[in-house]
Amino acid sequence: MPRPLLGTGADARYWLCLDVCGLCCAILSQVVILFSVSSILHDLYRHGVGITGLLNAIVCLTLGGMASLSHLKAMLSDPGAVPRAAAPLARDEERARLAASAASGYRSRAKGWCHRCASYKPPRAHHDSVTNRCIVKMDHYCPWTNNAIGVLNHKFFILFIGYTFALCIHSMVVIVQLTYAAPRLPKMNRQQRRQERYDDDATIELAKQSFNPGKLGTILVAFCALLFGLFTACMLADQWSVLRTNVAKIDRLKGEETECASDVNEVFGGRSRGFRYDWLLPTAPVFPESVRDDIMGYRLADKRSMSGDLEGGDEEASFDHPQDEDFKRRATAKPSP
Ligand SMILES: [Zn+2]
Repeated sequence: MPRPLLGTGADARYWLCLDVCGLCCAILSQVVILFSVSSILHDLYRHGVGITGLLNAIVCLTLGGMASLSHLKAMLSDPGAVPRAAAPLARDEERARLAASAASGYRSRAKGWCHRCASYKPPRAHHDSVTNRCIVKMDHYCPWTNNAIGVLNHKFFILFIGYTFALCIHSMVVIVQLTYAAPRLPKMNRQQRRQERYDDDATIELAKQSFNPGKLGTILVAFCALLFGLFTACMLADQWSVLRTNVAKIDRLKGEETECASDVNEVFGGRSRGFRYDWLLPTAPVFPESVRDDIMGYRLADKRSMSGDLEGGDEEASFDHPQDEDFKRRATAKPSP
């Protein structure tokens, strides 16, 4: 049977959640970003391109481009789905054995075993009902990115809301700047207005400007910037504790605040908790080899471990970088009988 091109199953070639509502929300997100950027660029062009206008256009294009790219990466990246070949780490083997033995009975919801995936469930993984996969360090399902947010795409999600927030603030600043910079008609007193209501050129010009479609676009962008600016500000405040503590939202709500790699930032990767310039780029997070298994909470089983021998084999089972083709091949391979 040929492998599906798109999907969230273990055999899909490319990751994409095929939920219709989620796809509509994700497309709407891209349309709003594109509309906001194009409308701001149009307003800047209408008001003349000086040095300030050029700088504003560059900032607007950069923020919009990064928000759009981060959104696409968050949507199209595997959020950290547990592969079928996943096997427990040495410290979790006993718990996994108990869970697997209980899975056939009424205790099938035992920790360490997902009855819906019928496979091992690492300690910090949660089953997502939309993608129908167990996701390591799942934070939540985001309809705007049409994907679960987990250990491997959390960085893209935070960049998406961060750049969207910055784009909203910049759009509002540009709109205010252009509003105050626009040439104003001379003010007339009540008597002058009454006298010159029908034949005054300035009044006619004012009437024409009030029906300018470009102004409607600007008003709509200002409304979107205010709405999504507030929304993303709340999201960023909510995500701050995840960045600070390395604990995902679901774990925090459940009171299971287990931190596995205290020396690295589990959202952005790297070798320390300190800021690096690549945190600002929508590139895949890279974790040091020494803590990668601890963060993911599983190792990929080799033939020996799948046949029941869970002792040893750590050297062979340690997996490569998540973006490597070899990792993908091993992660999606069916276990040997
Ligand atoms: Zn599951």
